[in-house]
Amino acid sequence: MENPKMWIGGKWVDAASGKTYPVFNPATGEEICQVPLGGQADVDAAVEAAKKAFPVWSKKGQTERSMVMMRIGKALRDNAKELGDLDILEHGTPARDAGPMAVFSAERIEYVSQVARGFMGSVMPLKPGVVFYLQREPIGVCALIIPWNVPLRMVAAKLGTALALGNACIVKPPSIDSLVALRFAKVLEELSDVLPAGAVNIVTGPGSTVGEALSRHPGVGLVSFTGSCETGKNIMAAASGTVKRVLLELGGKNPFIVMKDADLNAAVSKAVPIAFANTGQICAAPGRFYIHESMYDEFVQRFIEGAKKVVTGDPRDPATQMGPVVSAEHRDKVESFIKSGIDEGAKLILGGKRPDTPPLNKGYYVMPTVFANVTQNMKIAREEIFGPVVPILKFSSDDEALAYANDSTYALCASVWTKNISTALRFVNELEAGYVWVNDHMALASDQPWGGFKQSGIGKENSAMGLEEYTQVKAVSIQL
Ligand code: NAP
Ligand code: MG
Repeated sequence: MENPKMWIGGKWVDAASGKTYPVFNPATGEEICQVPLGGQADVDAAVEAAKKAFPVWSKKGQTERSMVMMRIGKALRDNAKELGDLDILEHGTPARDAGPMAVFSAERIEYVSQVARGFMGSVMPLKPGVVFYLQREPIGVCALIIPWNVPLRMVAAKLGTALALGNACIVKPPSIDSLVALRFAKVLEELSDVLPAGAVNIVTGPGSTVGEALSRHPGVGLVSFTGSCETGKNIMAAASGTVKRVLLELGGKNPFIVMKDADLNAAVSKAVPIAFANTGQICAAPGRFYIHESMYDEFVQRFIEGAKKVVTGDPRDPATQMGPVVSAEHRDKVESFIKSGIDEGAKLILGGKRPDTPPLNKGYYVMPTVFANVTQNMKIAREEIFGPVVPILKFSSDDEALAYANDSTYALCASVWTKNISTALRFVNELEAGYVWVNDHMALASDQPWGGFKQSGIGKENSAMGLEEYTQVKAVSIQL
């Protein structure tokens, strides 16, 4: 594949340093191409370009801007095949998921383009002779820092929201999955008649330089970040010097709680596919399963039966349900969790190893892995694994389940499975989580707010609440 360039100020450019770095196909371990290694100078150029575009883009009427956003959505749909193929190649997304992902990304943009209309203000009756109103304004230049787990969807969600409300933006794609964002810019290039040069810029390169420079930059008004808690804390610290706004969607260790009166069939049928979707690399996926002792053995047995049937293999194959993890480094990290589970005395009952037959042994595969007899203080029950590794724990009372679930610095989302409405509502009220499902898990749509409590983040994305994050409110009082 031809080496791509970065997209700054409406032009395809090399890094100012002229340096590049390799990206790899996780299914084969082969190098795909070299990507520009951006740095401070490239960030400065992108911020300048965005600052120039901002007054042009923000002064368009919302109707006109929303029409442009609808065109971006349409262009994404038209390019869904190419974007999906790239997602398969650089991320290892199974073909059956890659196409829908591109369409879902387009839907996000179409959603924000509509919600942005009629969103920007309200009038309040204050007293006679005074007109008082609230006016929402875009923030200016937004830095959008993207994780590697669902890169296309994240780029679409952040870029779509920032842009629909009149901001200019700089996208910092994940180093290991940069290609899909750059291909997105090619889609935008086709709309250069309506989208000012510099309204969107893509700067590739390491988080420790490009991401850090964006977080510190005085020209950036908001850092919208999705990724790990550790990086979120670094970004908050870097952004504090200029009192930037931060929107942080961070990690989770999401409990999936099966009460003694739950519909076991429904719980298992949901649990298996979502545990291994995107090879376990989804922030909303369950990270720890708590099963009432009365049905623990049956749940484990049925879960294993389901997990054995998950087709793991070449992501290009339409039959594949689970591909590789994203990188060799991430595979090593997931494997270190498996080792810790064994060392701490959990019972490994499925998987735990790499496939040993070609061609899978060349890629970064981890087979579906299940641990039983896991206890609350084991590392696999406490830390985010972000891979196809499932810890199953046991509880004996409602109080115990709640105490275990809330015993975490994470609080992204949770689910409880029960037929009892009182139990359901008690858990809804007492679970510490930004999203709680009852008898479901991981069902999400553009019009539902998403964002965690505690160390899982600050602010919401999706829904009208998500649009608020990319604006600032001006209060206006006019004495007549
Ligand atoms: P990550 O390592 O935190 O990286 C995310 C992004 O931040 C990448 O673009 C990375 O660049 C950049 N970055 C790294 N260090 C930085 C710094 N010091 N300053 C600014 N930017 C920096 O996360 P990841 O491993 O890609 O993604 C997995 C994590 O994301 C998991 O914890 C998962 O739960 C979380 N996640 C959360 C949500 C949610 O909605 N809450 C959604 C998806 C994922 P490089 O790629 O160059 O390192
Ligand atoms: Mg890759």
